[in-house]
Amino acid sequence: MSNQKGSNAPQCPLTTANGAPIGVQQALTAGPRGPVLMQDVQLLEQMQHFNRERIPERVVHAKGSGAYGIFTVTHDVTRYTKAAFLSSVGKKTETFLRFSTVAGERGAADAERDVRGFAVKFYTEEGNWDLVGNNTPVFFVRDPYKFQNFIHTQKRHPATNLRDLDMQWDFWSLCPESLHQVTILMSDRGIPATYRHLNGYGSHTYSMVNNEGDRVWVKFHFKTMQGIKNLSDDEASRLIGDDRESHQRDLYTSIARGEFPKWRVCIQVMTQSQSETFRWNPFDLTKVWPHAEFPLIEVGVLELNRNPENYFAEVEQAAFKPSALVPGIGSSPDKMLQARLMSYADTHLHRLGVNHHQIPVNKPRCPVMNYIRDGAITDGSYGAAPNYWPNSHSGTPRPSPAHADPAWNLGQVVVDRFDSTGGHDDYTQPGNLYRMFDESHRDRLTTRIAAGLSQARKEIQLRQLCHFFRADADYGSRVAKKLGIDTAAFAPSTLQELKHEAAVGAGQP
Ligand code: NDP
Repeated sequence: MSNQKGSNAPQCPLTTANGAPIGVQQALTAGPRGPVLMQDVQLLEQMQHFNRERIPERVVHAKGSGAYGIFTVTHDVTRYTKAAFLSSVGKKTETFLRFSTVAGERGAADAERDVRGFAVKFYTEEGNWDLVGNNTPVFFVRDPYKFQNFIHTQKRHPATNLRDLDMQWDFWSLCPESLHQVTILMSDRGIPATYRHLNGYGSHTYSMVNNEGDRVWVKFHFKTMQGIKNLSDDEASRLIGDDRESHQRDLYTSIARGEFPKWRVCIQVMTQSQSETFRWNPFDLTKVWPHAEFPLIEVGVLELNRNPENYFAEVEQAAFKPSALVPGIGSSPDKMLQARLMSYADTHLHRLGVNHHQIPVNKPRCPVMNYIRDGAITDGSYGAAPNYWPNSHSGTPRPSPAHADPAWNLGQVVVDRFDSTGGHDDYTQPGNLYRMFDESHRDRLTTRIAAGLSQARKEIQLRQLCHFFRADADYGSRVAKKLGIDTAAFAPSTLQELKHEAAVGAGQP
């Protein structure tokens, strides 16, 4: 797996960080037994740099793997978008994709039951477009206020420093909007076999604007051309015992031997008028758009074909942010997307610094011309150019109205803090997913859920059980049985009500 240069590579002098040749690399001491002298600046430099080798770990998605690739347009989508990189069939754009687990730290094992991050950077001629998605089409919460709290439940307990199933199920049972994603996570797709064998989803609703200024709402799908492959819980436990870096190893070695993974890139499109009558909020991150109503439209193929040369420089320092948008692709009212537009850029300011976009893996491949200046570790590429706007110098960068985003019509808007938990249909779609599973999949799903939920307090188990019943009566009954809970213990009226709701959700009132 090593790509170290062979022993035939020409010798080059060992130098200090500022390039001065080093004669001997041994500590400078007063006598052979020491002590070490303060004037050994080479040693001091090495020690000081070592102490600063790590940058802050990502709070989420800390463990990741990345590779470069090419996106090729295969179908004409210019009726939806004026994005330059999508302007003609056959057009190619360089990309960088980072996969990740969500909850584990930098040293966590790859083959864990967890959502996988799927973040793609398209180096387009009109700037970088980052699609920062997951391998699931939905998410656990719809209100950004809950995001940081949700992540806390997936991380370590403040006292025990252990992952804590009571805290996870406590949160999930109080947030029924999580049921859809919980069902996907606990399904057979919860532990992908490799990063090559999973789908990617933009998850949020985005917008596209065409050359006429018409806007549609879109969802992005990346369908693996390797086929979906997952691990059973037993296979994953065995694999983790043998190899904690299984997904990194698989991705790197596949690309190194010329087996380049590919994804079919598709969109779903919803018009403004469809969005006004759709039975769910089209900007709700806990919902999918059914394929029967919003079929997948082919756009292109993404192929990964080049490994990074230096993991830290290119993967650890890769910075993706949903706010990296290009003309023709925009945001939407999705509350979670709105929060992520700020939050991801902000985290890069903390983790990598104010000039993170100048790091080679993040640097746009098109000219960058503006009046943002200076800051830590700037590459100084603007030289003596004016640093203010407006200015009367010729040839300086200026806005071009052709790229202005058409206005959003939000109608009559009420500003308020709306409840993200009560009064929503959180059950129909998880129920639909459950009903898609065959008998044995339902059995494995409910066994996994019961194994985790049994470690939560009894009142949490009962609260969560109601959500399964509301999604599908069979779903609820199976989990209850595996928890050893006699549903006869429920007040008859409650159970009747739950089963009735489940039947209505399943379209059988
Ligand atoms: P469809 O039958 O048209 O689509 C079903 C989708 O489910 C396919 O995209 C399939 O992906 C995916 N799928 C199959 N097994 C699993 C699993 N274990 N975990 C997650 N996804 C799986 O039905 P609808 O569009 O009406 O959706 C029905 C349900 O399917 C939804 O409630 C949602 O939970 C799930 N789903 C829907 C998606 C959408 O965008 N509509 C996307 C992904 C999931 P594949 O083709 O790769 O096998």
